[in-house]
Amino acid sequence: MRMKTIKSRRGVRWLIALMTVSLIGITGIQAYWISNAYTIKEEKFDQQVSEALFGTSRRLEALENINFLNDSFRLEPFFSSGLRSGISFYNNVDSTTRKRNRESRFRVSMRINGDTVLSLESDSSRMHFFSALGVDTNPKLLVRRFPTQIQEKARNLDVMFEKMILHEVRKGNRLETRLTRDVLDSILSFELQTRGIEMPYQFSVVENNRLAMKSEKWEPEQEQYKAVLFPNDFFGKRLLMVSFPGKANYLLSSMWAMLLISMVFTLAMIVTFSKTLSYSIRQKRISEIKTDFINNMTHEFKTPIATINLAIDALSNAKMINNPDKVRHYSQVIKQENHRMNMQVESVLRLALMDKKELELHYEDVAINDLLEECAEHIRLQMEARGGKLQKFFNAPALQLEIDRNHIGNAVINILDNAMKYSQGTPEITMVTEATKTDFIIVISDKGMGMTKEEQKRIFDRFFRVSSGDIHNIKGHGLGLSYAQGIVQAHGGRIEVESEKGKGSKFYIYLPVTTSD
Ligand code: ADP
Repeated sequence: MRMKTIKSRRGVRWLIALMTVSLIGITGIQAYWISNAYTIKEEKFDQQVSEALFGTSRRLEALENINFLNDSFRLEPFFSSGLRSGISFYNNVDSTTRKRNRESRFRVSMRINGDTVLSLESDSSRMHFFSALGVDTNPKLLVRRFPTQIQEKARNLDVMFEKMILHEVRKGNRLETRLTRDVLDSILSFELQTRGIEMPYQFSVVENNRLAMKSEKWEPEQEQYKAVLFPNDFFGKRLLMVSFPGKANYLLSSMWAMLLISMVFTLAMIVTFSKTLSYSIRQKRISEIKTDFINNMTHEFKTPIATINLAIDALSNAKMINNPDKVRHYSQVIKQENHRMNMQVESVLRLALMDKKELELHYEDVAINDLLEECAEHIRLQMEARGGKLQKFFNAPALQLEIDRNHIGNAVINILDNAMKYSQGTPEITMVTEATKTDFIIVISDKGMGMTKEEQKRIFDRFFRVSSGDIHNIKGHGLGLSYAQGIVQAHGGRIEVESEKGKGSKFYIYLPVTTSD
């Protein structure tokens, strides 16, 4: 029996260890995947921001080039269809040949200081244009035919190139003269938005290690993304720096559903696991307790059965017929033992009925003080035999309560019986009654062996008996309190206990007072 318990305990321990390890493992794997997902999101975000910054830098440079060309060469008619929308387009086109697309025909005229330096129709019509003039389109032939004109054009191109270089040198390093904060902000926000990043950001531009421009709020300690501004400048170095104060929240916010679901599932698993475990431990304990109970009961029945056997043997003796006193005595013994067994069977049956909710209560108006006197009378003889004392203080008014006389009586007797059973030496018991507006309270206290807090929690459990020390010697089945509580609860009341190990116990029976208005 003992070996078996140790074995099964070890089994439970293994089960707990295995489940705990699995739970930790699963939680760990989940955490790993979530952090992985976060890293991937962060990398994607970082890449998009870098692209946006690079785009901003390119767009700013293109804008500056166009402005320069526009100012210098007065190409308004050509660009008038909208400078901004043409930014990317112009960015890759060299300055001498500009065309919108192959299909559209347009005239390109480039002028420096009012002089036309180039005048061409779009590609598809160039042949017609030149052939209309009766000119061979081969450039080598053109050079031979118009040497001075070609030379002049080359000189003009030189001038243009010189002008660009001069502008580059003259424009200086001061960022403020080339770019306003609003322009930078709007281009940056456009670039970020086209990449799906719509969250607050801060930016600044550092020019030759000097903070040249910054957004309204700028916290340098934040994680920063950097890109070179005007990378093709001859002089100076400018760094555009952008930070996103709400980046972590933004990344997490897209993952909160995943986080929540995995947390809920993990929690559900932990709860299910612990519930299953506690349930199976309880079941195991109940089955152990039941086995104990059956052993106890059999033992309890053995004595009366043996006594009855002896009495019957005696009665069946032929000599007995002539001794009516002895016959009466043995019949009395049989009756008593029979009654004892009957009581035990009754108590088990009552609980079974209570379980099935089939226990019928017969309510009647009962003078509660009289009933309590009867209960006290029940244990009086045993108390006297042990030299004990039962004191009664009926503080509550002598009420009539609508209760089941028998069952409430049994419940009180059980508690009084316990007070006596679990008191070593001379039992000292008091029974006090109190009344509140709603309840009639019966307080039964003893100065017996008392119970720990843990034990107090379980004494109302069926078959529970404190199984240590002297209690082993005290007879019982662990059913008395469970029955008492069931009955009192069926009356709409409750039983509470206060106790201290070694000092004594106090049981409070609350019975509701039904006021008849
Ligand atoms: P039992 O038949 O064992 O007395 P009960 O259900 O009446 O069963 O009580 C359950 C357990 O509670 C008892 O075995 C005992 O350990 C504990 N108990 C009950 N009443 C008292 C008390 N007055 N003082 C100390 N322990 C008590």
